[in-house]
Amino acid sequence: MMKILVAEDDLTSCTILAAILGKWGYEPIAVNNGTDAWEIMQKSDAPSLAILDWEMPGMDGLAVCRKIRERPVSNPPYIIILTARGEKTDIVKGLDAGANDYISKPYDNEELQARIRVGQRMMELQTELLDARDALAHQATHDSLTGALNRRAILDGLEKELNRAGRRQSKMSIGLCDIDHFKKVNDTYGHQVGDDVLRRFVAAIQTNLRKYDLLGRYGGEEFLIVAPDSAGSVEEGIYERLRARIAGLHIATEAGDIGITGGIGVAGSDNGTTMDMNVGAADAALYYAKSEGRNQVAYAKDDRLKSKTG
Ligand code: GH3
Ligand code: MG
Ligand code: MG
Ligand code: MG
Repeated sequence: MMKILVAEDDLTSCTILAAILGKWGYEPIAVNNGTDAWEIMQKSDAPSLAILDWEMPGMDGLAVCRKIRERPVSNPPYIIILTARGEKTDIVKGLDAGANDYISKPYDNEELQARIRVGQRMMELQTELLDARDALAHQATHDSLTGALNRRAILDGLEKELNRAGRRQSKMSIGLCDIDHFKKVNDTYGHQVGDDVLRRFVAAIQTNLRKYDLLGRYGGEEFLIVAPDSAGSVEEGIYERLRARIAGLHIATEAGDIGITGGIGVAGSDNGTTMDMNVGAADAALYYAKSEGRNQVAYAKDDRLKSKTG
């Protein structure tokens, strides 16, 4: 049921209008002054259509209209001004205040209903456009198979977090995580099962991250974790927990349960100020984790790794 705000200072007119709207299947919210109207229209669940009487003591309909239009929102409401004035200059004033439409009193019920339907169609169209825009924005930043951020988005996120950590003098870390012997999963069970494993792998990581950590698909079966405010024991807690969680997965497939392991290369932001250096250090650590026998976490700050990679 669509909510419609009715702001009309004349109590009888207000009650009649609200009753008609109810009869037409709308959910009327009636107020008798501009201040109350303005208050309701600022709420997160505000009606998407408002019928405002022009003449009201205090804040009049036009003032409410202007205030609503000043708000920088993505889904502005449809506004119909109700006026006893019929002169052309008044109409221009009303529309210039940001009203979508106006109707003169005394109004014809059928005309009012038709004009509300126009508003309703406009609002439905607006909602569809906003949804489509949001879906596109999501597609542009997320990996369609796993739902993780895509490569560009995770690198954007990393750059932002590196800058933020630099400004706040806080320590962050990144983890490059790669599934061990994943080619064998594909070769043994087929690509479809491989895809399922990737999805489960990402879901398992996601549920084990803190809500402000980021996860993105860096490449094929390689994922990048960006963990702000993580150093020392916090850092080790995150990545060790992840490694154990991945190694403990039982992924059900037609071919039975599949278990996987993963290697994680970790680099702190102090390992490199630039993004490239940071990712490079994590990559070197991942390589080390792989060479040391897989299913393990390796840290770029580790002396053994430093001596190997120079
Ligand atoms: P390592 O332990 O050294 O990481 O061995 P690996 O087999 O995991 O590494 P390798 O780089 O040889 O193979 C990665 C495989 O990941 C090869 C590629 O076909 C597969 N892969 C990459 N993206 C996808 C995908 O979207 N779906 C599926 N099913 N497989 C993918
Ligand atoms: Mg009035
Ligand atoms: Mg691999
Ligand atoms: Mg790989």
